[in-house]
Amino acid sequence: MADFKTHLSVAGTLSGVLAVGCLQTGLAEPKDALLFFTLGAVGGILPDIDSDHSIPVNILFSCLATLAAFFSVFSKIGAYSIVESIILWVAVFVIVRYPVFELFKRSTVHRGVFHSLLAAVFFCFLSATLLHDVFALPSALAWLSSCFIVFGYLIHLLLDELYSVDMMGIRLKKSFGTALKPISFTYLKASIALIIATLALYFFVPELASFIQVVGDVKLYDVLRNNLLPQDGWFGF
Ligand SMILES: [Zn+2]
Repeated sequence: MADFKTHLSVAGTLSGVLAVGCLQTGLAEPKDALLFFTLGAVGGILPDIDSDHSIPVNILFSCLATLAAFFSVFSKIGAYSIVESIILWVAVFVIVRYPVFELFKRSTVHRGVFHSLLAAVFFCFLSATLLHDVFALPSALAWLSSCFIVFGYLIHLLLDELYSVDMMGIRLKKSFGTALKPISFTYLKASIALIIATLALYFFVPELASFIQVVGDVKLYDVLRNNLLPQDGWFGF
């Protein structure tokens, strides 16, 4: 499997490229593009959330806690005073970073259920729901943001599989096939719990129609075609 730095840099770079694409096609404003990039990078380390190595998981939970704290404050802009906003930021950060993290650490096994496509769908539904319901993002933007988490997540699973191929000897390491799989049959109980959680979340996800309308708009692809390469000379030359 790939290491933490590789996951973070590959997912971060590719999400950055995709976020710039969204910006250029008018799908995102600069602040959204920054959010997409961050979520893509977080998605790139999210499958190792149940890792036994403490540094990546600590960093990941610090990132998640910071994101949750900022989004909580953003969702209450104008409603709370400065002091209330600071209290809210600190409270959300501390809750996610410590009790939620501890609870999570105690209830997971590494490479258990999170290295699977089912987990990617679970995090897609979870992030879209949280971003829309808790952090007040419009549904289309919440879905688009969750697509970046899934994008980073899939890059992670793919990288883990690539690293389990020994290129020199052209043979497969024992870990081949343990990352990119629909669901984990080894941890059947946990997988069933994850299926139930994903199905339950489905009833809370934001409406999809406006997201489909945005990404299905033919004008978007015209803009993409017209802006993909420079019309007259690279970088103005
Ligand atoms: Zn991994």
